[in-house]
Amino acid sequence: MIAPDLETAISGLRVLIENAQAIVPFTGAGISTECGIPDFRSPGGLWTKNQPIQFEDFLASREVRDESWRRRFAMEDSFGSAKPGRGHRALASLYRAGKVPGLVTQNIDNLHQASGIAPKDVVELHGNTTYATCLDCAKRYELFWVRQKFDAAGQRAPDCDCGGLIKTATISFGQPMPAEAMQHAEELSCNCDLFLAIGSSLVVWPAAGFPLMAKRRGAALVIINREPTDFDDAADLVVHNDIGDVLGPFIAN
Ligand SMILES: [Zn+2]
Repeated sequence: MIAPDLETAISGLRVLIENAQAIVPFTGAGISTECGIPDFRSPGGLWTKNQPIQFEDFLASREVRDESWRRRFAMEDSFGSAKPGRGHRALASLYRAGKVPGLVTQNIDNLHQASGIAPKDVVELHGNTTYATCLDCAKRYELFWVRQKFDAAGQRAPDCDCGGLIKTATISFGQPMPAEAMQHAEELSCNCDLFLAIGSSLVVWPAAGFPLMAKRRGAALVIINREPTDFDDAADLVVHNDIGDVLGPFIAN
């Protein structure tokens, strides 16, 4: 059913959460918009102005690598200062209460970890933009280090000591999905009794398969998203209200 108003949405969600033993939240850009993180895919979003950089172009061209780092540093104002929103804090509260064995996210903003969920329990399908790694040896680099080198070299991207390319720890277009994360997400989806799809349009496959996976295994499915999704008919509860308004009451101090 589609919740007719905010009050009904919250009370319906409360019953489902109270009855659940293992809740798996699946989050998309919508949960982070109140934190000032742009929704790249939305109309007028960054990706409608700047074509996203393909992974093979990043590998092939130094100019493209430099450009990708220029864009990343330009976004540091939003990513660098963002704090968890009401949605993140509510999910972290459920996690602390022992109700959430793990969370799956399409976001790259690190805000679930910042809200207090252990990094090992955050499955990042699209990686993380708040640090960088070497594509060859997987050594981790902090962004301030990359930026220092980048600026000192006249806006040229630094390489790893091993000779490998350094890239934000995100999964770019054309880059294979991380097998370990996919498997972890599948395990969580198959073993939960409540699946909360929050702020995702659920159109990007294979990620969009997880809600149905959970549903087929008998979990209740809740979809909280401003716009309708293709899975609304399959959901036990559909909420089109603002995510922060809906989840705010579930923040426990
Ligand atoms: Zn390396």
